[in-house]
Amino acid sequence: MGECLRKACPCLETLWQRIFSDKKASPGEGGVHGGSGGGGGGGGGFSSSGEVRQPSPSPAPTLERVPESGCIYTAIWPFESRHTDELSFQEGDLFSVISRSGDWWTARRIDKNGRVLDTGIVPSNYLARAESLEMQPWYFGTMNRFEAQSHLLGPGNDRGAFLIRHSEKDNVGYVLSVRSLNRVKHFKIHGDENIFYVEHNHQFSSLIDLVEHYSINTLTNTGTLGNPCKRKKPTTPDLNHFTVDEWELPKEEFTLEEELGTGYFADVYRGRWKNIINVAIKILKSDSELNHREFQREVQILKSLRHRHLIALFAVCTATTPYYIITELMEKGSLLSFLRSPEGQNQDIAALVDMGAQVADGMSYLEEKNSIHRDLAARNVLVGEDYICKVADFGLARVIKEPFYITEDKKIPYKWSAPEAISHGMFSNKSDVWSFGVLLYEITTHGGVPYPALSNQEVYEQVSRGYRMPAPAKCPDFLYKIMLKCWSAEPGDRPDFKSLKMQLDSSSYELD
Ligand code: ADP
Repeated sequence: MGECLRKACPCLETLWQRIFSDKKASPGEGGVHGGSGGGGGGGGGFSSSGEVRQPSPSPAPTLERVPESGCIYTAIWPFESRHTDELSFQEGDLFSVISRSGDWWTARRIDKNGRVLDTGIVPSNYLARAESLEMQPWYFGTMNRFEAQSHLLGPGNDRGAFLIRHSEKDNVGYVLSVRSLNRVKHFKIHGDENIFYVEHNHQFSSLIDLVEHYSINTLTNTGTLGNPCKRKKPTTPDLNHFTVDEWELPKEEFTLEEELGTGYFADVYRGRWKNIINVAIKILKSDSELNHREFQREVQILKSLRHRHLIALFAVCTATTPYYIITELMEKGSLLSFLRSPEGQNQDIAALVDMGAQVADGMSYLEEKNSIHRDLAARNVLVGEDYICKVADFGLARVIKEPFYITEDKKIPYKWSAPEAISHGMFSNKSDVWSFGVLLYEITTHGGVPYPALSNQEVYEQVSRGYRMPAPAKCPDFLYKIMLKCWSAEPGDRPDFKSLKMQLDSSSYELD
């Protein structure tokens, strides 16, 4: 194990010497794990109660030292603290983690000899296990082919630039993505935990060995691997660690920039928080109809829902009207406007199916959490820089919009709503599935209007009598079959989001 870690991270040789020199792992202590996982809370530096064990007698008694064999992390990005409890740090700084709570961890910054420099709270996605796969400059974690393409075709990357990622699809595993002149090729990495290969006749015991081999030797039809793909700095999942639990913030902390869009219920602006982070600021047009207690309760639930394909709610400002809702900023705006734009019109069917799969993934998480969206449509999905799609407007949509739906009949999104939701107000995950079928129609028509020839009332009548939209032009057969299943009259006959995600994943044309 020591050898493997030394090879993966030669810069930490002093630390490895301290960890491996004369130390014999006692039963239950386990030693340092060499696997690729990032979490791994069982490092030997912690007692079963989670307390930090005292380090063994230190030669310099006044200096605290990191416990022997504790899990060491490295900063892969610099970070500027935003709160007095947080640590600022530079890329390459070393940490010993004391406690992991959600996305913000308490850690000690240490030097190469394991001496503690300071202690504080750090964003976990800025760190990688020092000995882990995440630490490799070419490992990009979970990512789909479209995000990988966007990274590799971005500035600073030449022919041969490459990355290894873990596919979003459950059955694919690791994928090697390599840039040729102006396109990207994706190779599935076969094998199990101990064997990795792209070509059957060249098998390796680690991904590091595989990369080393193809950095020198040619990969069929592709050439040798060049430089690792340039990385983009991640965003933190919160404004700072404090807003995880304290999300009511004063409006003065935000500056409004240009308007991004305007809806029936809100105007949305690009903005900044304390001049540090870009955010989207949604200003509610009228709060008079709002049930304020319900609003606060819903915000509490929303803060606990976190998923790669759901918009993150950062904070709210409700001390004075109009209310502000602060969320992460999605550079390409709504999926509907994206699909209708020249860029959206250029997306091929594989890319469109992938967008559907991303939405199904986010919805499958909501389904797991017994949360119902009630207004799923392309206008309520947002698109980020790397074509990442995130479901927006869930939860709060009900509190904000329902009073209007009740009082102003015409505001009900008839064309997206399941018959039982319109007739009896019976919203469920299965009524969301109906709406998802309509969203697939919007995707495959590049933002077409559903039931183009029918009014809202006609849609309800016709659909109740069994009418269903015909397959859009060029819509693959499998996709239309999925839509029809989503539009089963009986909610129980509709698929769930988990299986929809799997079907969309496995029916794409290419590997991943
Ligand atoms: P409403 O619910 O009142 O219809 P929306 O939430 O749909 O308002 O927002 C209106 C528009 O603002 C969207 O169509 C989109 O273009 C833009 N928008 C909303 N949220 C964001 C965000 N987080 N990032 C970027 N643009 C956004």
